[in-house]
Amino acid sequence: MRLIPEPSLRKRTTLRLGGKALAEVWIEKDQDWEQLPELVQDFGGTPLVLGRGSNVLAMDAELPFVLIRQEGGLSEFFQQRAGRGEAVVQGGQTLAGFLAECKRRGWSGLEGLIGIPGTVGGAVAMNAGSYGCTLGERLLGVQFWTAERGLFWLDAGQLRTGYRLFDPGIGEGFWVASKAKFAFAKSEPGKIHAKMREVYFHKKATQPILNRTCGCVFKNPKPGVSAGRLLDRCGLKGYRVGDMGFSERHANFLINHGQGRSTEALELIAVARERCRGQFGFELELEVKCISK
Ligand SMILES: Cc1cc2nc3c(=O)[nH]c(=O)nc-3n(C[C@H](O)[C@H](O)[C@H](O)COP(=O)(O)OP(=O)(O)OC[C@H]3O[C@@H](n4cnc5c(N)ncnc54)[C@H](O)[C@@H]3O)c2cc1C
Repeated sequence: MRLIPEPSLRKRTTLRLGGKALAEVWIEKDQDWEQLPELVQDFGGTPLVLGRGSNVLAMDAELPFVLIRQEGGLSEFFQQRAGRGEAVVQGGQTLAGFLAECKRRGWSGLEGLIGIPGTVGGAVAMNAGSYGCTLGERLLGVQFWTAERGLFWLDAGQLRTGYRLFDPGIGEGFWVASKAKFAFAKSEPGKIHAKMREVYFHKKATQPILNRTCGCVFKNPKPGVSAGRLLDRCGLKGYRVGDMGFSERHANFLINHGQGRSTEALELIAVARERCRGQFGFELELEVKCISK
């Protein structure tokens, strides 16, 4: 276990916003979990799992959290069974590294997620999805950690997943997705590469994936209704408050143009909600997770 005092959220999130938390704990091996409850109590904070911080809007304030981070490291095992591939992956593994391994082995099913800068654990918790595929569809099971039960597995059938929804049904308490098990269809590495390339270049042309963003700010209000298109029609493409603004390329992405502040981000969110409610009658719900006191 590694401990870092007063970690800066600004340095740990893709939107580059946020003040300091109390501490950061890196879980390096299974035994480290046992010490976690006492450690969090000693710091007097609330535990908060952080992956790559790519779906997070952290406030510029002192934040009373102990960040729980997990080491990556590629999958524990990859094996082929009855014509399909299976993999158990660490929660801290980057999605990019995992997808690269799937491509190398010719395992298909998650190509649409290329370009998402998160971890496997974060993508499980958010049920990340794009270009017609979601992580939840490929899940066979998830290993969790909770203070009450320690480490334990649940099968996919015990988990509730939907559009940006992941509910393990283990109550309101703190939980961590520490590993996940996936199933894939067998394909050709060349075909997978071609699909990923196509998706990546389409994303690059239509989303600001190389800027400081946190992905989509709002969920689509209902199937077939894109929050980005509504915000565009509200005239919010390129709309700025200070150094924060909605992207010119995709109105559902907030961009930090350099010295942005969390208060500016909140102001933009309030304007977007108000306009969308006034013009279209939709109450936009946040997809991004706000980290505040
Ligand atoms: C350029 C860009 C493009 C993006 N495109 C997409 C897209 O196409 N589709 C999409 O769905 N998302 C997209 N996102 C959003 C984001 O990348 C995904 O939601 C990603 O899965 C979040 O992973 P993370 O590791 O960064 O999680 P974080 O942002 O660190 O955390 C997100 C939430 O999950 C919780 N969490 C993180 N890890 C765990 C864990 N192991 N166990 C339990 N809870 C956990 C955190 O506490 C937090 O509430 C994009 C983001 C960016 C910046």
